Amino acid sequence: MNDIICPKCGEFTQGLVDGLCKDCFFKTSNLIEAPLVLYAKICSACGAQLTKGKWNNDYTIPEIVIQTVEDALLIHEKADNIELCIEPKQMTPHLYRVSIEANATIMEEPVRQMTEAEVRITRIACDMCSRMSGNYFEAILQIRAASRYPTEEEKTRCMRIINSTLEKMQNKGDRTAFISNSAEARDGIDLYMGSANATRIVCKEIVTELGGGFAESSSLFGRKDGKDVYRMTFSLRLPEFMAGDIVELKGKVIEIKRFSKSVTGTDLVKGSKFNSQPDDMKGATLIAKRSTAKKAVVVSIEKNDLMLLDPDTYETVTVKMPLLFSASEGDEVPVIKTSIGLVALPEETSRKNDI
Ligand SMILES: [Zn+2]
Ligand SMILES: [Zn+2]
Repeated sequence: MNDIICPKCGEFTQGLVDGLCKDCFFKTSNLIEAPLVLYAKICSACGAQLTKGKWNNDYTIPEIVIQTVEDALLIHEKADNIELCIEPKQMTPHLYRVSIEANATIMEEPVRQMTEAEVRITRIACDMCSRMSGNYFEAILQIRAASRYPTEEEKTRCMRIINSTLEKMQNKGDRTAFISNSAEARDGIDLYMGSANATRIVCKEIVTELGGGFAESSSLFGRKDGKDVYRMTFSLRLPEFMAGDIVELKGKVIEIKRFSKSVTGTDLVKGSKFNSQPDDMKGATLIAKRSTAKKAVVVSIEKNDLMLLDPDTYETVTVKMPLLFSASEGDEVPVIKTSIGLVALPEETSRKNDI
């Protein structure tokens, strides 16, 4: 079989690899090749890194340096059992020197090669930060309340829900889940949002926690590159009454637990559960909030009646025992003044939906 001549060294050989004898092949072939200078792109604002054409926040700078080298490294196509050892060394904040060691087998012969590359860190603005700084938005979120203005507490609570929801979405890789601008007015807040999808998710979260509802609409914003550009508007309405609000309606005194597509609460006079629809709550007036209820001392308890010391007049008044009640004589219980006199509040079951 020694009948092939290597065109490079002129020796007889058993076969040619890439047109050469084995000796010449190993002398002229590189196991690995890396460009001398590589560039890693990092966002100067949020620290995100560009890998494989996509921005993400998943890596540290040394990791991104290694990844940049790995992506640019050429490995011989005939190499098997490849083991790479890539070690970055920081020279300056913008420059890493990287040593690369490769061990592999080519046609069952072990091969080892070392080389070096330089990775320069380029700081630019990522897709998200450049959109945010350019005030880019896809949707407007209008936070309002039905028949009233949202309170400062509610606005703070909404912003907390929005920020934590967007953060979760960003952590999952959604780089459009951001607020690029906001405007606060007396009747609510307008937020300019990077994505309609994220805005919808945020609205659902707020409605789940605080009640109310939202509606979406789209309107023609303008034309870009010959195409109509639409912007979505999400109108979020916090409910007229929040959990913990105590309202009077047609002689009833009701503590609201939830005011959404349906209304639930406690009928404080009857001492029973209350269920209704928002439409049937028209004309209800807010008379107190649980959070600001006064305390009255329990003088005595008789069957279903409580004798309380009126916190304003210090007279003893008899009221009905609330649905949930475990206080004893001498304890203080929350009470409110209504048009039908003093009413004791039941114990709280859950403060989850409370403001
Ligand atoms: Zn040869
Ligand atoms: Zn960024």
